[in-house]
Amino acid sequence: MSGSAANARIVAGNWKMHMGPSRARAFVEAFRHPEGREQVEVLLFPPAVSLATLVDGLRGRGVQARLGVQNIHPEREGAFTGEISAEMAREAGARFILVGHSERRQIFGESPDDTARKIAAAFRAGLTPLLCVGETLVERQAGRLEEVLGRHLDAALSPRGIRDRIHDGERFLVAYEPVWAIGTGETATPADASGAHAFIRSRLESLLGDGASGIPILYGGSVKPANAAELLNAQGVDGVLVGGASLDPVSFAKIIDGAP
Ligand code: PEP
Repeated sequence: MSGSAANARIVAGNWKMHMGPSRARAFVEAFRHPEGREQVEVLLFPPAVSLATLVDGLRGRGVQARLGVQNIHPEREGAFTGEISAEMAREAGARFILVGHSERRQIFGESPDDTARKIAAAFRAGLTPLLCVGETLVERQAGRLEEVLGRHLDAALSPRGIRDRIHDGERFLVAYEPVWAIGTGETATPADASGAHAFIRSRLESLLGDGASGIPILYGGSVKPANAAELLNAQGVDGVLVGGASLDPVSFAKIIDGAP
């Protein structure tokens, strides 16, 4: 995908630690997929405890949203109190998994190796990974944008088994999420996003060769109804990953409406 008009865009909502079952139910009852935007692929990443509510709530409503989880433990099962496995998430209705989100990396100490293990576990269970990569403000100001993006991508794709899965046609998504733009109201300009996406695309090509061509690259970081259309139309942007503005069904629908 290249972010050209010919490709359907993806709009994904990361609810983080918001929206328990009753609010998830209210969201699904209020959400209306904008007319004329049926081609936009909509993904929702609720807290795991709200998955069942969304599975039930989406059924029969004609809403095409697909569901994912925000985190998994890489093992299949075991004595890991408080954790859920990829297999459990899939059984509960998830089809996608966020990996490498900056909040997991920074708050919970998720290492590049952990991220790779979670991607492998996702493929094992039949989940599609959405890998987040991005630089902090300090790294950006030090001119280290490409070094950081390259390091995140290299680590996530270093296991041979992961690269083989992607070569074999398993779906894999990447989101460029500059950490300084997440939850801050600061947004990368469309030109900044396009530049970072071009670098990510070229690094994916050097890691995966032909296997890189079908990988969508989303932009994430304070996407709102007011800036969504210009980001969704930027060169190389195949979709957006939305945090705060995905909690409100009206805002989220407006963002979808901004897709070309
Ligand atoms: C995110 O959590 O991935 C995100 C992009 O959040 P926000 O849109 O709130 O910046």
